[in-house]
Amino acid sequence: MKAEIVSVGTELLLGEVSDTNAAYLASQLALLGAEVHFITAVDDSMDRLGEVLTRAWGRSDMIVVTGGLGPTQDDLTREAVACLLGEEMQVSQPLLQNLKDMFAAIGRTMSDSNIKQATLIPSAQSLANPRGTAPGWWVERDGRLLITLPGPPPEMQRMWQMEVLPRLQARTQGQALVLRTLKCFGLTEAEAGEVAGSAGDWANPSLGIYARADGIHLRMSARAASQDEAASIIAAAEARLRSVLAGHIWGTDEDSPEAAVGRLLVERELTLATMESCTGGLLGSLITDVPGSSAYYRGGLVAYANEAKVSFGVEPRLIERHGAVSRQAAEAMAEAARQRLGADVGLSTTGVAGPEGAEGKAPGLAYVAVSGALGRECIEGRYPPLRFDMKRRVAIQALLLLRRRLLAR
Ligand code: ATP
Ligand code: MG
Repeated sequence: MKAEIVSVGTELLLGEVSDTNAAYLASQLALLGAEVHFITAVDDSMDRLGEVLTRAWGRSDMIVVTGGLGPTQDDLTREAVACLLGEEMQVSQPLLQNLKDMFAAIGRTMSDSNIKQATLIPSAQSLANPRGTAPGWWVERDGRLLITLPGPPPEMQRMWQMEVLPRLQARTQGQALVLRTLKCFGLTEAEAGEVAGSAGDWANPSLGIYARADGIHLRMSARAASQDEAASIIAAAEARLRSVLAGHIWGTDEDSPEAAVGRLLVERELTLATMESCTGGLLGSLITDVPGSSAYYRGGLVAYANEAKVSFGVEPRLIERHGAVSRQAAEAMAEAARQRLGADVGLSTTGVAGPEGAEGKAPGLAYVAVSGALGRECIEGRYPPLRFDMKRRVAIQALLLLRRRLLAR
């Protein structure tokens, strides 16, 4: 199915509001197996909106429009759709009553300008919006589908989940789609692509490869007549991928390194402390994103300057000899954090975040280390020297090192 998204609103074209609705809908449509060929943002102009809708109607099977359903004169989506299809907008008495009830419930009277929010055209069914005043439209005609959704993201997302998805799923019955994502670390996107390519052709399931902060994601999507059949196609493909990517896969679907580490620490009844240099607290931030992390995370020391590392218990001579960005410093930091904070396991990060080098070392070099109840280990890594990216990757690498040690125990 060829799909297309239209985001309506002058605020989008002025750069005041980012078009997050289109991103949300694009990812939702991809999950349904629809091919999104166009995303267009257009201002609140009848002419230009009409032009965009006419083109979309001519080339796509499904058009999802967000925004422009408000009560004001510059909210023109309904008018533009009615004009596109040559149909007349009529007030729906049940919708009007519903709108009046909503205003009464908050102690207000409805103004006349809201009446147009209670209109439909003959080809449209209404989509309920309990979070706002603008119902959406589900329009089916000439083998095409057009859906209008409100602009505010909470209203739009609720309507998509509760009103649109069930209707779409009912239309695609007899066609099941199963998705599975394998998450890898320590490979480039190109390497992952080559290795995966050697493990079969990827017609069904299809395979998408994406570089993310926590590594490379390989997403398989299988289609079949039934859910069971699609699931078994995925299972076979997953086994093939696992056999070629074995050591690199750290998780699936919704897994995150911090949640995986949290589960394992709880299971093994171990506590954790961190000392961070180049990640500047990001590691501690990720760890505490997990609900219940207080059960195992004692806390973290952000020791950016060498003096700070020393004051937390790292030997000054060790830094003088090897530098703060070294295997020795990383291990000493992990051990010092563990001791200072009375934890079973210490985890550390140290690196040159750039853009300049330091200690005669190139930007992008980093070490992560673990020390304590899981033994001692340090990993050296070289990362793209972009500060923000590198901090995330080093923090993730530290978590994945910890995860591996926990699994080995
Ligand atoms: P209503 O007027 O009933 O709130 P509407 O359908 O007319 O709904 P808009 O007026 O177009 O919606 O948008 C309302 C607000 O929703 C915007 O100011 C903006 O903050 C947000 N919004 C609109 N479109 C988008 C979009 N594509 N992505 C993210 N936010 C959006
Ligand atoms: Mg608007």
